[in-house]
This record gives sequence, C-alpha cells and structure tokens, in this order.
Amino acid sequence: MILTLFGPPGSGKGTQASYLVERLGIPQISTGELLRAEAASNTKLGRLAKSYMDRGDLVPDDVTVEVFRRRLSKPDVAEGALLDGFPRTADQAAELDQALHGLGRRMDRVVYIKVPTAELVSRISGRLTCPKCGRTYHPVLAPPKLDRLCDRDSTPLIERDDDKAETARHRIGVYLDQTLPVLEHYRKQGVVAEVSGEGDIEDVRRRVLEAIGRSDREQR
Ligand code: ADP
Ligand code: AMP
Repeated sequence: MILTLFGPPGSGKGTQASYLVERLGIPQISTGELLRAEAASNTKLGRLAKSYMDRGDLVPDDVTVEVFRRRLSKPDVAEGALLDGFPRTADQAAELDQALHGLGRRMDRVVYIKVPTAELVSRISGRLTCPKCGRTYHPVLAPPKLDRLCDRDSTPLIERDDDKAETARHRIGVYLDQTLPVLEHYRKQGVVAEVSGEGDIEDVRRRVLEAIGRSDREQR
C-alpha cells in the first residue's frame, strides 16, 4: 500500500505517521527527515538542502527527488510506504508517478489533513522534535511523558531551527503557493480523502484510519 499524508506544516502528518507505521507495518518516508539527516551528515547535498530549509523554502526538486528515490529503493519498501511531506510540487508528483509506475504500483490514498492556518503557527512554534527518531511533541498540546525527553528512545528533544514563528509563517505561505495545488493532481486520480486535523490527536487518528479503510472497529 502506498499512502501519502498531505497537509500544511504543523497539520500533524508526522504525529499521525508515527502511529500508522506501527499499525500498518510499512515504513514512513519523510523527506523532511531525510533532508535533515543529509544536512546533519554535512554532505554537499546536505549543505545545499540546509540553506533552503533554514529559510523555510522548498529544497530544489532535483535534490529532494534524489534523496527520495534513494530511500524508495530500499528493500523495506517492498510492502508499501507511508509518505510524509512528499510530493510538495507538481514536478515531484510527476516524478513520483513515474517511480511508482516503474515499481508496478500506484498511489492508493492521499489523506489530506486540514487545519485552519491560524492554529498552525502555535503548533509549529511550540514543536519539540526528537533528533534521533523524528517523533514530535508539544509542551502543552502533546507533552512527552518525561520533560523534554523522547518517549520512544529517551533522547533529549530539540526545537528545529525552521520552527521559529517567522519561518513557520513563511513555510505556510510556501505550502499555499506551491504544495496545495498538487492536491488537484490526486483529485483527478480519485484518491484523495479529506479529514479534519482539529481536535485531539486520537480523534484525528480515528479519522485517518477511516479514510484508509482501517477503522478501529475493523481491528476488534
Ligand atoms: P507536520 O508533520 O504536519 O509538520 P507534526 O506532526 O510535527 O506536523 O505536528 C506539529 C505540532 O503540532 C507538534 O508539536 C505536534 O505535537 C502538534 N500536534 C499534532 N497533532 C495535533 C493535534 N491534533 N492537536 C494539537 N496539536 C497537535
Ligand atoms: P518537514 O519536516 O516536512 O516540515 O520539512 C522541513 C523542510 O524540509 C521544508 O520546509 C523544506 O525546506 C524541506 N522539504 C521537506 N520535504 C520537501 C519536499 N518534498 N520538497 C522540497 N523541500 C522539502
């Protein structure tokens, strides 16, 4: 199964993905995390990517697609993947169609998580991220069990450089200009399901599971 979580920065894609990968047994592919790992390794590609990420701009398509394709070729993707933050431009969507076609697959579902813009900045500017596993928290909205430590691996949580309120606002603008139009591409394929990303994380989780035909009722 190939799924994409689609939505503005701060809509809860990463939060929902970390639950879904366990539930569905398929890996998450987050281009944001892949690019941050590349930047942390200080490779030429990583340094280039970081200069865009720090400003809150999209990393150029050729760099992002290269990093994405490398990940897609790993054996753990055989059963499917949960994409988070990719594709974000029309060209990336076209590249993805081609890559999936080459693997004899297609996009099964794009879950569009809708959150009003006004709520996004407060979510992003409070976000705490685990630099090891990528899991995200919020001191008020989604606190970790122990102060500023990841529940999963006890790594000290950090604030991302691009999560400052001003950069967050810029990223939301970039999303509205360049990424939101990509939804039309998938609407034409008839694979988009819209869910509200407002309310408790568990409520959103239930909506996302419904949208992919895996409601909790089915599990019982
Ligand atoms: P994205 O991956 O879409 O950028 P995240 O999953 O990192 O978004 O969530 C952004 C921030 O909002 C995080 O701090 C997270 O803990 C918090 N968050 C996620 N879902 C909800 C929710 N339903 N209600 C309130 N806060 C949320
Ligand atoms: P995210 O972790 O999804 O919030 O992404 C953080 C940053 O990584 C974005 O603001 C972009 O600079 C970069 N990025 C992540 N995914 C993509 C993508 N598909 N295309 C271009 N840039 C991306």
